[in-house]
Amino acid sequence: MDNKEAVKRLLLLLNRHRKTIVVIICCLFISTGLNLCIPLISRRVMDDGFIGGDKKLLIELVLASMAIYAINSLIDMIKEKKRVDISAKIQYFLSDQSFTHLMKLRVNYFNNTNYAETLNSINTDIGQMASIADSSVFFVITQAFSMAGGMIGLFIIDIRMTILVLLFIPVKCVVMKYFAKKQKQIMDGFISSSQEYAKWFGDTVGGVREVKLFNVLGKKHEEFVCRQIHMIEKQKQMNMLSQWNMILDSVMVQILSTLLYILGANLVFDMRLSVGSVFAFITYSAYVTGPISAILNIGYLLSGIIPSTKRYYAFMDLEEETDGGKCTALCLDDLKLERVSFAYEKDKYILKDVDILFEKGRKTAVIGRNGSGKTTIINLLTRMYEPAGGRILLGEEDISEPSLTEYRNMVSVVSQQIYLFNDTIRNNICLYKTVDDAVIETACRDSGLEDFIKEVSLDYVVGQNGAMLSGGQKQKIALARALIHDKPIIIFDEATSNTDAYSEQQINGLLNTRLKEKTVIVITHKKEILSKVDRIVVLKEGIVADIGEYDELIGRNDELNIMMEKAD
Ligand code: ADP
Repeated sequence: MDNKEAVKRLLLLLNRHRKTIVVIICCLFISTGLNLCIPLISRRVMDDGFIGGDKKLLIELVLASMAIYAINSLIDMIKEKKRVDISAKIQYFLSDQSFTHLMKLRVNYFNNTNYAETLNSINTDIGQMASIADSSVFFVITQAFSMAGGMIGLFIIDIRMTILVLLFIPVKCVVMKYFAKKQKQIMDGFISSSQEYAKWFGDTVGGVREVKLFNVLGKKHEEFVCRQIHMIEKQKQMNMLSQWNMILDSVMVQILSTLLYILGANLVFDMRLSVGSVFAFITYSAYVTGPISAILNIGYLLSGIIPSTKRYYAFMDLEEETDGGKCTALCLDDLKLERVSFAYEKDKYILKDVDILFEKGRKTAVIGRNGSGKTTIINLLTRMYEPAGGRILLGEEDISEPSLTEYRNMVSVVSQQIYLFNDTIRNNICLYKTVDDAVIETACRDSGLEDFIKEVSLDYVVGQNGAMLSGGQKQKIALARALIHDKPIIIFDEATSNTDAYSEQQINGLLNTRLKEKTVIVITHKKEILSKVDRIVVLKEGIVADIGEYDELIGRNDELNIMMEKAD
């Protein structure tokens, strides 16, 4: 995305609040207009009041100035309220939009990005983008008005002195442009190093156990210091640059005022200009030269906003999961992989022309060595990824056609990688479904969790990702979750790898009772389960090497025997 496109998208964002912006601009216009009267009033205070000796007029004019200040403050309040409102609304809109998008992103995004990095990028970018409604941005509009008004004031008072002011403008422009360019470079560097830091931070905190076990805290601390120093350096450079910017700005304004005083003094002594006019002129010249910084500073402001806008929309343009969107109610039918091929990385095929039939209501096991593609098949069946070739059918319908919500209502996965939210056992099992405790307790009994629940209760908070539980307890919660959600297709992904022999028997029992009517797909190498399923599919390096019943395969397939031996 180029700068033009980023600005266009930002303007579209503001367009949603155009009515409020019109009110703000009207407020700015009125208050700048009133402010512009002040130097003219001051001139009369000086010339007719003090020098002309008209005390009554002087008091009237001073009171008029005070009234203008009071009205301006009131207008300012109204304007600020509206502006803060827009800024908050933009921030909320962007946060909402990005969260919804993040949740719909394809899972491969999460393989390369950790939470800290995602949170940091989104927060930084949204903060920067919402600053488009900052007081400084609207200040630029005020400044543009006051520059135009100030210019009129200058021409009214004296054309010769005005030429001096006009000559000063290009000099200031050149200096300011240099600063804006420098600022952009440093800002880009700062953003990218803070992003790198967030990525590193998320990775390090995620691996805190390894840091402890392998005693690499010292090394990690060295990395931390190195990254922090880099970021602090960038921050220092930014602060110093804006200091230099301010200093140079005020030196230049000072030089101009000095020249104006000298030229003004000559004109006063030659009786060609009044004292009040010189003071009013100097005030107007500040109205003209001051805004140059603010107006050119828009580049300075945008130098932070534009890169963030580009990055935010690059994130928003990342591909979401494809949702067929068809909202027809699905019912249980055969699940069929037809010549399915798949690659995570270009041309590196993990599955090659795989044909598998998971018959409706029957139990099928998928076995194969590590890396043979078993989990990949589950990823495809749950629509986390899409086949590169071939198709997956539920009955006659391609599973990519129904809406994701509709389709995922058909499939449960009981996996060794279950994620548990930092919440109670009850909430982790029900996941927002309203269920009576008696039903939950039955599910817990059937999943072998009953004794543990008696010990700690359903209200036990499991910690982040179930940190307060054992691997086996987590898997049993996964099973209870699947039983409660009662979907027609259940996939067990090495679901008994962490459970004890007793629980394994219990799960086995379920296949013939609670799960009797369901289509069950099991990835396991446990003989106890393999001997009970209807069919076994043997995968080898991404192709189906054999399919058959247990009794058939046991005689002809060495792979099955080796796998079962290892598992036991
Ligand atoms: P299995 O479940 O049979 O052990 P997987 O289906 O998990 O095997 O993996 C099959 C192959 O795909 C492996 O070689 C693995 O390295 C690769 N793989 C798995 N997930 C990804 C991924 N997200 N990106 C790239 N390669 C992957």
